[in-house]
Amino acid sequence: MRRVSVFGATGSIGQNTIDLIARDPTAYQVVALTGGRNIAQLAADARRLRANVAVTAYPECYDELCGALAGSDVEAAAGADALLEAAARPADWVMSAIVGAAGLEPGLIALRQGATLALANKETLVCAGALVMETARAHGARLLPVDSEHSAIFQALVGEDLSAVERIVITASGGAFRDWPLERLAVATPAEASTHPNWAMGQRITIDSASMFNKALELIETREFFGVSPEKIEVIVHPESLIHALVGFRDGALMAHVGAPDMRHAIGYALHWPERRSLPVERLDLAKVAQMTFRAPDDARYPALRLARQVMARGGLSGAVFNAAKETALDAFIAGQIGFSDMSTVVEAVLEHTEAQPGLIDAAMTLDNVGKTDHLARQCAMSVMAKRAG
Ligand code: NDP
Repeated sequence: MRRVSVFGATGSIGQNTIDLIARDPTAYQVVALTGGRNIAQLAADARRLRANVAVTAYPECYDELCGALAGSDVEAAAGADALLEAAARPADWVMSAIVGAAGLEPGLIALRQGATLALANKETLVCAGALVMETARAHGARLLPVDSEHSAIFQALVGEDLSAVERIVITASGGAFRDWPLERLAVATPAEASTHPNWAMGQRITIDSASMFNKALELIETREFFGVSPEKIEVIVHPESLIHALVGFRDGALMAHVGAPDMRHAIGYALHWPERRSLPVERLDLAKVAQMTFRAPDDARYPALRLARQVMARGGLSGAVFNAAKETALDAFIAGQIGFSDMSTVVEAVLEHTEAQPGLIDAAMTLDNVGKTDHLARQCAMSVMAKRAG
C-alpha cells in the first residue's frame, strides 16, 4: 500500500485529491490529512479514509476536531508544530495543497523525508524555488507539478531534451473580468472577482485569476520548476481553458496539452506517475468544442504579469516579497479595505521599497531568510496601504 498524506485536504485541490484516493481505498494508507477551519470535512474524510492523524492548523479548533473524531482511531492534532510533525511522518506521496506561503515549510519537510511531493502550492516555488529544488536534490526526493499548466508542460516534455525547447506558452482564461471595460475594474467587488468562467477553485486563486496574479505566480513557478529563462516563457489568453500549456521546440513543433478544465487530471497524473491510469474526467468532444480562441494579454488589464517579469529578472528573495505583498493585498481586497486595481499598485510599491533595503533581496535563500523577508514584505504592504488610506 502506498503511504499518502494530503496537506490542505479540505480545500478545492485537497478534495479532488481525496476523491481520487477514495476511489481505490485498498491501494493507499492515508498517513496525514491537514486542514484549517473546516473541521467537519477534515474529520469526515479522516474517518472515511482511516487516516493515522488529522491536523488542523489552528489550535483553537483542536477541541472541535477531537469531538468530531471521538470514537475513531484517528489521532487529532492542532497548530503549526503539529502540521510540521505530520509532514515529517514517512509517506511515499504527499499532496501540497495548503494555500499561500504557509504551504512552504510542510512541503520542505516532506521533501527532506524523501517523499514524492505533488505540488499544487505554487507559492512554494515562487518564494523559495532554489531552496526547494536543492532540498529535493539533496534528499533524492521528487517534485511533481499539479498546477494544470505545469502538469501540461511536464507531460509535453516526456522523452524530450530540455535543450530543444524554444519556448513555453502557458494559457490563462483571463479570469472574471477579461471582457469588462477597464474603468470598471477599480470598483469590482470580491464577490464579482470570486467567480471563475471555467474552473471551480478556492476563493483566493479565483480572485488571483481575475487579476492574473495567479498567472504571474505561474510564470515564476515555470521558471523555477523547469529552469528555463524568463524570455522563453509566454502567456496567452485562452478563454475556453482547454489547452493548459504548450511547449515549442526548435524545429517549430508546438506540443499542446488539451483537456477539460478538471483538476483531477493533473492530480491523477501526479498520483499515478509515471503510469497513466484511467481517470474520471470528461473526454473532450472536439466537434462540440468547435473552436478555441486566443488573444495576447492586455498589459493595462493585467499589470501583475509585468511585475512577475520584474521579479524573475531580479531573482533572489524577490519572489518571497512579491508573494507576501500579493497575499496581504488580497486579504485587504477580500476585507473590502482596498479596491481590485489597488492590489497591483500595493505589490509594486512593496517591490520598490524592499529593493531599496540593502541586502534584503540578496540574502542567502534559507527558510529563515524567506520567513523574515515574507514578514517584512507583509509589514511593508500594510504600511503602504495605511499611507494610501490616510
Ligand atoms: P483552498 O482555499 O480551496 O484550500 C486551501 C487549503 O489550505 C484548505 O485545506 C485550508 O483549510 C488550508 N489552509 C488555509 N490556510 C491555511 C494555513 N494558514 N495553514 C494551513 N492550512 C491552511 O485552496 P485551493 O485548493 O484552491 O488551492 C490550494 C493551493 O493549490 C494554492 O496554492 C493554489 O494556488 C494551488 N492551486 C489550486 C488550483 C485549484 O484548482 N484550486 C489549481 C492549481 C493550483 P480550511 O479550508 O479547512 O480552512
